[in-house]
Amino acid sequence: MAEEKTRTALLREELMMEEKGIKTLSAEEISAADNFCEGYKIFLDASPVEREAVVVARQMAEERGFVAFDPQANYQPGDKVYYVNRGKAIGLAVIGRNGVRNGARLAIAHIDSPRIDLKPCPLYEANDLALFKTHYYGGLKKYQWTAIPLTLHGVVVKLDGTVAEISWGDQPDESCFCVTDLLPHLAQEQVTKPMSKAFTGEDLNVLVGSRPYPEAEDDKELVKLNVMSILREKYGMTESDFLSAELCLVPSFKAKDIGFDRSMIGGYGHDDKVCSYPALMAALDVETPEQTCITYLTDKEEIGSDGNTGMQSDFLRYFIYDLAKQDGVEGYRAISQSTCLSADVNAAFDPTYASAFEAKNSCYINNGVVISKYTGHGGKYDTSDASAEFMGKVRSLLERNNILWQIGELGRVDLGGGGTIAKYVANMNVDVIDLGVPVLSMHAPFEIVSKTDVYMAYRAFLEFFRA
Ligand code: MN
Ligand code: MN
Repeated sequence: MAEEKTRTALLREELMMEEKGIKTLSAEEISAADNFCEGYKIFLDASPVEREAVVVARQMAEERGFVAFDPQANYQPGDKVYYVNRGKAIGLAVIGRNGVRNGARLAIAHIDSPRIDLKPCPLYEANDLALFKTHYYGGLKKYQWTAIPLTLHGVVVKLDGTVAEISWGDQPDESCFCVTDLLPHLAQEQVTKPMSKAFTGEDLNVLVGSRPYPEAEDDKELVKLNVMSILREKYGMTESDFLSAELCLVPSFKAKDIGFDRSMIGGYGHDDKVCSYPALMAALDVETPEQTCITYLTDKEEIGSDGNTGMQSDFLRYFIYDLAKQDGVEGYRAISQSTCLSADVNAAFDPTYASAFEAKNSCYINNGVVISKYTGHGGKYDTSDASAEFMGKVRSLLERNNILWQIGELGRVDLGGGGTIAKYVANMNVDVIDLGVPVLSMHAPFEIVSKTDVYMAYRAFLEFFRA
């Protein structure tokens, strides 16, 4: 026989916030999450850099009936279009019954991730080794990028205008590259330095060769010459072609399940393919919505969202203007009535580094999709602090649809901070809030997320589009 609840217990139930978590999910939901993440792992492995993410997203969209956007065409509810920005960002829209007359529903995530870019003149020879000079991209703890296998991705535009697409190191029979580190035996000086000085940006030199060009008549930079001759054979390029190239080194790790229970995924670039993929899948899966739904996958978030492929460019704004024109409304009116989920990760509480967090306001692995009302640093600088009204709407949407969610601040007050694209969307006069997936080891070469959290992000974007 069940014990009767005391008056205090009943009052507590009525007034106090209940703790939720993975224990409230059914076996079916957990298994749906596991299945969803199989697709995610494939996407993650195929999209280490933004150009590749755009190619994969576009392919997936075309398979689901999306066609290239034509500003002159007259779209009907249910039509699906995509619009690529310079190969590095992509917008996918599903036209709603009411078009953008009452605004659009936006889900915006970034597809660039921290990595190591080549400098314009990268290749040099030192002590019979060939190396690349690099300039890191985004917030890195540099020591994490030493002594791990790296692959090379990007494009080289040659003097005649032809483009060589480079992807070296992903096939099992391909070689890869590496930043060397100093052996512990000789690191007594290095290990006593602060982390920022023990390994600097200029130390991120990548080893790319060690054999001299064979049968040479002289001995001038023959290892470098040998590397260039291999690159010419494979890509038809010369050294000066590095001047018009975008080449990135990324970890060669493939996505792997983590834990005896396989509950998590380790991989490179979860930030922010882990939000891009659910937002992309929501656009592919939504049936004809009331308001036009747009998933926009953008570039350059990790370096401040600047440039014409970053969120500070007018690309998305003009896309919505084009859609508004068809509907006979002013573009600025369509934008001003739009609402947005800025899809970005937050730092999951890590018991090993507990002092970096404030436990009550942190997000946790397996507690669901995380809403960050604001990000920023030092007294809420540099952030869009979402209004209580919009927060209320999103919270009620998640509750109505039984989506496991949690609130999260980025770490302890005044310890550091970070930003997302939310503030640039807010500047367009759009109601926006950050919603995404908690990550362990964020910005490391191998980051970790929970499968159920990834799935809850997908469900959140889909219900936001449907609402
Ligand atoms: Mn991110
Ligand atoms: Mn990031």
